[in-house]
Amino acid sequence: MEQFAYVASHDLQEPLRMVTSFTQLLAMKYKNKLDSDADDYIDFIVEGSHRMKDLIDDLLVYSRLNTVKTEYQFSDLDQLLDKVLLGMKNTIVEKHVQIIHDKLPTVRCDSSQLGQVFQNLISNSIKFHETTPKIHISAEETDEEWILGVSDEGIGIGPEHQKQIFDVFKRLHTRKKYPGTGIGLSICKRVVERHNGKIWVESELGKGSSFYFTLPKKSP
Ligand code: ADP
Repeated sequence: MEQFAYVASHDLQEPLRMVTSFTQLLAMKYKNKLDSDADDYIDFIVEGSHRMKDLIDDLLVYSRLNTVKTEYQFSDLDQLLDKVLLGMKNTIVEKHVQIIHDKLPTVRCDSSQLGQVFQNLISNSIKFHETTPKIHISAEETDEEWILGVSDEGIGIGPEHQKQIFDVFKRLHTRKKYPGTGIGLSICKRVVERHNGKIWVESELGKGSSFYFTLPKKSP
């Protein structure tokens, strides 16, 4: 199944590129020249192909995590977080996002994979907010592990959904209300488990969510 997901998502990229680029050409050349039904149909195809591209790209990232070797090195998570936030600067400024973070540790990890975890959790915290997003990134140390957290004051998640959201394609809202592919948290789960850690959420509907993940100090 894993191999199938990888091959399918990889090999679907090329034909999808073709569909997307010819639909764009079709839209450019014939928009407003046919009847209004035709315009609507063209819009639906363009939207559908963009959505398919997002799904395939995310699925590919997810399935690649099983095939690539995890590259462990010592990484300063403060620096890693700065890098991630720099990449999200436009959204952060546009949405007036307030982010504070504790002093983060240096850990042995695959920094590119862990960067993806921070990026996915932070962009979810920004997305699932109805007011100005406020985010706190925390770090707590025990004898055996680090517990890292991304907390927000957003829409929250009911207790009945808190396990399922880590499954591939599981989403709780329509795409219209909150866009997304439903793969972000499955990627986080896979990365954390590859680092022998655990990931979970503590949340109350309407009050906010805190996503936590552990990184054992005794790294592989
Ligand atoms: P996506 O963000 O593309 O929908 P994810 O796998 O990242 O997919 O998240 C799955 C679902 O979990 C989301 O659709 C949303 O319903 C819920 N969710 C994730 N993060 C949060 C959050 N910070 N606050 C509220 N709901 C969240």
